[in-house]
Amino acid sequence: MKKLIRNIRYFSPETGKPQIGNMLLSEGTIEGFTKETHLEDTQAIEGKQQWLLPGFIDMHVHFREPGGEEKETLETGSRAALAGGFTTVVCMPNTQPVPDHAEAVEDLLKKTQNLPCQVLLMGSISKGLAGVEKSNFELYRHPRFVGVTDDGRPVSSARVLMEAMDKAKKENLIVGLHCEDESLMFDRSINQGKISRKLNLQGVPVMAEALMIHRDLYLAEKLNSPLHIQHVSTAESVRLIGEAKAKGVPVTCEAAPHHFSLTEETILTRGSMAKMSPPLRTEMDVKSVRQGLKDGTIDVIATDHAPHLESDKTEDLVQSANGIVGLETAFAVGVTYLMDYKILNLQELVERMSTRPAQLLGLNTKGTLKPGMDADLVLVDLDRRWTVDREAFFSKGRNTPYHAMGLRGKVTTTIVGGEIRYNGEEGLFLL
Ligand SMILES: [Zn+2]
Repeated sequence: MKKLIRNIRYFSPETGKPQIGNMLLSEGTIEGFTKETHLEDTQAIEGKQQWLLPGFIDMHVHFREPGGEEKETLETGSRAALAGGFTTVVCMPNTQPVPDHAEAVEDLLKKTQNLPCQVLLMGSISKGLAGVEKSNFELYRHPRFVGVTDDGRPVSSARVLMEAMDKAKKENLIVGLHCEDESLMFDRSINQGKISRKLNLQGVPVMAEALMIHRDLYLAEKLNSPLHIQHVSTAESVRLIGEAKAKGVPVTCEAAPHHFSLTEETILTRGSMAKMSPPLRTEMDVKSVRQGLKDGTIDVIATDHAPHLESDKTEDLVQSANGIVGLETAFAVGVTYLMDYKILNLQELVERMSTRPAQLLGLNTKGTLKPGMDADLVLVDLDRRWTVDREAFFSKGRNTPYHAMGLRGKVTTTIVGGEIRYNGEEGLFLL
């Protein structure tokens, strides 16, 4: 049966202008917009004058399955995604086992074929993420594999990376890079600066990220092979990538919500809940990341959703696990820290969270509201203010620095392939 989402606000896919109207869905795709509010033989979905946007697409999540199911499973991660308005996510390969051999790849493809949101995958650049020997990329000849990465670790060997870039280009895979010089990552706990000195920690210098980005931009340019730089955290990185893009180097990059909303000082009040890799930086870095999102130097927002057990997030910053969950707060953090700070408007935020990620991932039927596109949609109440309650997360992870913080913008309904998968009013999943 066709569906009619009534009484919605949306940006016209033709003119970009805000409109009020109704959207007709048919067979899991967008049929188009209509002035009619009642149509025969259609199921009505009330939009309540909320904004209807293309479903969000997250290029960077860690769902921990296989091997870390106590932290998150593909199912719980998918629910967290839906609750955050994400209809497509890309899982990183730092699981146990790493999907670097046929059996593990087959198992992962089986596990991801029937989830409530679309779960795409990245394979590993190197076997076991050890950085010594390139993985066999022919394993990733499946439409759900969109790229390769050793995320969590840099690819220290230039030789391995060059081989990977060459092969990835032939196999049409994105090369995602966690850019930090391993020899300068030290205790991985915090930005090296005034707060690390206060806490008597060594921390991670800006230089760790910059050095690796220098090398990787050089390789992208010399080999004319595209690279995607993950979780850009510093002003220096934004500057380097901006200069490379201006020269025509084939590079794209992403930033995580925490890197445009929080500074290194957060660690003083939130402790290890504000520990991730790369770390939170200074006010100046946060401003540069925002500016990079504004001018397009930074292509996409990606959460780096990284659930951990309570027991892994120790009081000892050095011992604590790296990473925070992000799917259920990303949109509201975007509204609160980018829209309310007059950095991006709603349309630009959607560009960074849906349209541009769809382009980078080659998802030609996603990321816009044009007729014929997949009906992967999200309804948001832009004006709703709410307080983050980590106990209410659908993710198994409770590790967030945003707990008890007030944010604006709430996802109310998430639709995948024309089916309502999440109803935020009732906190219900319809799977
Ligand atoms: Zn990473």
